[in-house]
Amino acid sequence: MPEGPQMVFLKEQLEPFIGQVVLKATGSAKNIPYASMQNQVLTSIKTFGKELLFCFPDFTIRIHLMLFGKYAINEELNRVLRLGLAFEGGSINFYACDCRFISEPLNQVYDWSTDVLHPSFDPDKALAKLYRKPKKLICEALLDQDILAGVGNGIKNDVLFRMQIHPESLVGEIPEAALQKLVQACVKLSTEYLDWKREGTAGNHWQAYKQPTCPRDYIPFRKQKIGPSGRTSYFCDKCQQLYLPDTI
Ligand SMILES: [Zn+2]
Repeated sequence: MPEGPQMVFLKEQLEPFIGQVVLKATGSAKNIPYASMQNQVLTSIKTFGKELLFCFPDFTIRIHLMLFGKYAINEELNRVLRLGLAFEGGSINFYACDCRFISEPLNQVYDWSTDVLHPSFDPDKALAKLYRKPKKLICEALLDQDILAGVGNGIKNDVLFRMQIHPESLVGEIPEAALQKLVQACVKLSTEYLDWKREGTAGNHWQAYKQPTCPRDYIPFRKQKIGPSGRTSYFCDKCQQLYLPDTI
């Protein structure tokens, strides 16, 4: 599943379409006003976490690539088209994604300060939200898009490894200073990840995510589905500290 940095990178690839008029909108996504999108000017493209937002004068189309979403710029894939936008200067096609129509002003829909890559990201607010869920596993809390929008499974695994925190730690048991650093690490790694995308080197930098061996201890990483979301964690029992209540 694409994480926040990948969506910002995609937005950057699509920027040439800003200011262009939609010649034709087609697709199988429901509740999309295909006919009324015609002749509309794409005024801007934004991202919120893992969501891509196509902004028109009176409405927005939200795209979420989910687990298996694909897109093609100026070409078509041999798949069922969810949403295709044809412009004079080219086309954008989306497949296997979730598309939604948003009529409200975006500032009413999104709290930009929860997006780790947004200039208004508020780390104190994220920390306060984390502490409101003290019994939650940290590996689950980091994926909560209401707390840290844009953080996905790769960033989650690598920040926990960098900060040496075991994924099964409970949020409320992690010392405040460590949790603060963890939030900062989410921003830092997301920013680095975006730079790697721009350089074309993304995928070569993970220290823990999908890696076989702990680079600190040279022992195999444990790979395990943890928590209600069932997302996979990669972690080292030796160098990542498990924070649990003393009574357990
Ligand atoms: Zn280790």
